Amino acid sequence: MLISLKQQVALVTGASSGLGAGAARALAAAGAAVVINYNSHAEPAEQLVDEIRAAGGQAIAIGADVSKEDQVERLFAETIKAFGYLDILVANSGLQKDSPITEMSLEQWNTVIEVNLTGQFLCARAALRQFAKQGDRPGVSRAVGKIIHMSSVHQLIPWAGHANYAASKGGVDLLMRSIAQEVGQQRIRVNSIAPGAIHTAINEAATQGPALEKLLKLIPYGRVGDAEDVANAVVWLASDASDYVHGTTLFIDGGMSLYPEFRDNG
Ligand code: NAD
Repeated sequence: MLISLKQQVALVTGASSGLGAGAARALAAAGAAVVINYNSHAEPAEQLVDEIRAAGGQAIAIGADVSKEDQVERLFAETIKAFGYLDILVANSGLQKDSPITEMSLEQWNTVIEVNLTGQFLCARAALRQFAKQGDRPGVSRAVGKIIHMSSVHQLIPWAGHANYAASKGGVDLLMRSIAQEVGQQRIRVNSIAPGAIHTAINEAATQGPALEKLLKLIPYGRVGDAEDVANAVVWLASDASDYVHGTTLFIDGGMSLYPEFRDNG
């Protein structure tokens, strides 16, 4: 099936780097007009806008902190002002503030939960309100709207030294499935992507040098992923090609979630 997202509008949060930038590029290449949300640095977001426009696509950049209700409301209002509709939300923003649990500060805990979980709630809620307001768009998409939450293999795999991050992603799993259960009858599709080790800024240290050898032991397929591996899945989940996929998490992890330590009898 040839995938086309023509006439659709996609908002990608945290899209000035890493997986968000990859998703924005791929959505634009598939024909969607793309809103590139960034948190604090406008320059890389504006560069990506220029790149997409130079390739014949449509894009704008909008700054907003996804953990702040008023900023999320403004982000969605500016999206509708610019493009008139919203068809696809990729709630991608996320961060880590790592620490052994006994040394983890409340600030480290709160920051990660606010961006990785509350941010997903605020963006999903704003998207759902917009989908309800605009209703069906016949000939554009079979679903009334699509939400893709960026989770992690750590919604499943516990992660010592990263309890705040694992708790936030575990929360994303039940947030996604609860929303999917609630809004499916409105023909709104809600799913998650759970990447494993993908080479981006968030795990720069873990995917290079001596750390890489250790990491590869955890990946049965034998390589670290790249942003394109995830972007391809984003486009598929956003398209009619996945129209019967709802309330599920797609693991893109080279098999990291297969408990590879048990390969040789545990
Ligand atoms: P990244 O650091 O390049 O991207 C994270 C993005 O989120 C950045 O653009 C950052 O500016 C943005 N962001 C942070 N706080 C924000 C806020 N308050 N408001 C708006 N945006 C904010 O790293 P990435 O690897 O591209 O991560 C993207 C997502 O993928 C995250 O949710 C991360 O947890 C998830 N993920 C990544 C991997 C991986 O291996 N790279 C694995 C599993 C999950």
